[in-house]
Amino acid sequence: MHDLAGKTVKATIMHAPRSDGVEILPDALITVDVSGTIETVLPHGEPGHAEALQTARTSNTLVETGHKSYLLPGFVDLHIHAPQWPQLGKALDVPLEVWLQTYTFPLEARYADTAFARRIYDNLVSSLLAHGTTTAVYFATIHQEATRILAETCLARGQRALIGKVAMDNPDQCPDYYRDVDTQAALDGTRAFIEYVRALPGNEGWFVRWSRRVSFQAARMRRLPGWVRSPRIISAMSRPTVPKATGSMDMSWSGPEGPTRLHSTASDCLDGKVSWRIPIF
Ligand SMILES: [Zn+2]
Repeated sequence: MHDLAGKTVKATIMHAPRSDGVEILPDALITVDVSGTIETVLPHGEPGHAEALQTARTSNTLVETGHKSYLLPGFVDLHIHAPQWPQLGKALDVPLEVWLQTYTFPLEARYADTAFARRIYDNLVSSLLAHGTTTAVYFATIHQEATRILAETCLARGQRALIGKVAMDNPDQCPDYYRDVDTQAALDGTRAFIEYVRALPGNEGWFVRWSRRVSFQAARMRRLPGWVRSPRIISAMSRPTVPKATGSMDMSWSGPEGPTRLHSTASDCLDGKVSWRIPIF
């Protein structure tokens, strides 16, 4: 892939500027400034197109895609369990809670090993970028260090990301080997991760507003990565933790404002496991 900073790209572009349709711009020109930010998009035939094309040719900054190539905006994935990358393709052969206990919690517990976390997260982020996912909303694990590694990896690789250190403090549902020590530890860990991401060198200037509409936040992120509170609702959080961790019912939350992403599945709702949790949405 070219480094497109300072270049002008001539290509056929497909994008969806509105929710009700796709727009195709044959032979459009995209000018990119030296910092890598798109300055202008000039459809073919619009004023300035011919001049910009000539300028790019003269200055040897023109990049042309092939006739059978198209440019698409980056994909945005709004729900990825980063530590479960090694489980990709594994079937759900038992109810979710059993599946978590049998397969997933043992795997996620391995991220206490930072070398393992670094290897898997580097492969994950690189693979997603190679397939066009330029923005991702990640669940990580309960581990502070491993979750920071995920943030560092996204920053180093250039993927826009919203990342959450999950909160899991329910001793009735979480195994001893994979659980926050207690409710306070879950909340403190979330705050510590938020503060870490805000101070991460190279991540200056990011901006996220409080909202439960995480999809909008992903689109509005200016810098990467960001953070998102990630309470693991089903099977993992004690009832008192939920409002504190989400800041949605109990406004005594004293941490910085920002998005919260909750977690549930249709099967969880159908079997009644989220009945007391529904009002928080
Ligand atoms: Zn999920």
